[in-house]
Amino acid sequence: MIVDMHCHLDLYPNPFEVAKQCQQKGIYVLSVTTTPKAWLGTLRLAEGSPRIRTALGLHPQLAHLRYQELDLFDEILPQARYVGEIGLDGGREYKEHLPVQLRVLRHILKSVDHAGGRIMSIHSLASAGMVLSELEKYPDAGVKVLHWFTGNKSELERAVNMGCWFSVGPAMLNSKRGSETTLGIPKDRLLPETDAPFALNKGKALMPWDAGIVTGQLAKLWNMSIQDVEAQLYENFKTLLHSNSN
Ligand code: MN
Repeated sequence: MIVDMHCHLDLYPNPFEVAKQCQQKGIYVLSVTTTPKAWLGTLRLAEGSPRIRTALGLHPQLAHLRYQELDLFDEILPQARYVGEIGLDGGREYKEHLPVQLRVLRHILKSVDHAGGRIMSIHSLASAGMVLSELEKYPDAGVKVLHWFTGNKSELERAVNMGCWFSVGPAMLNSKRGSETTLGIPKDRLLPETDAPFALNKGKALMPWDAGIVTGQLAKLWNMSIQDVEAQLYENFKTLLHSNSN
């Protein structure tokens, strides 16, 4: 079984073809969106593919351009079972927009909290501590999955203690620092992702089914057999899906 917990299916040049191949390969995909306006079109990619689940998002890198879409976010939320990509980005290009990013994230977490909680895929680049402080204020907003976590050791510990989950991809595991971070994640709180088509593996855009690469990478890192890693990831996936009432 292959699970891709964070993939931008709608951003492939040929999204219907990629979605069809996901369906044929039987993989599970959390198809995240970057703006509420992308929801309907992205939802269409999942038609007839029950293993592709669409998440409602507003990407922090777009928050300053798309904050007007928060009304649309709230309108769609009752029918969305998953939320993402949301979060903060404190990187060089986006930190000047942190105030509006914070307003957007707080609005979203409050809405999700009121809606009874969702499984959420969360971006926290160069802002891990800030993101955790926001998530802490909304304990009932559901299940927090930190995607491609790049925080330091103490931030990682804090996230683990808060009950966060983590999605980890081939690109993260190809780096020394990403591998070290992954070693600090409890084995039962981790799921594979690709962050495709943005993230690369050996210079090539990843495909959703490349989330399967993570199994081999984890087997090396954890010094476990491929079979045991697969069993662990399968258990994790089941647990995650049952950990939110919605
Ligand atoms: Mn992403």
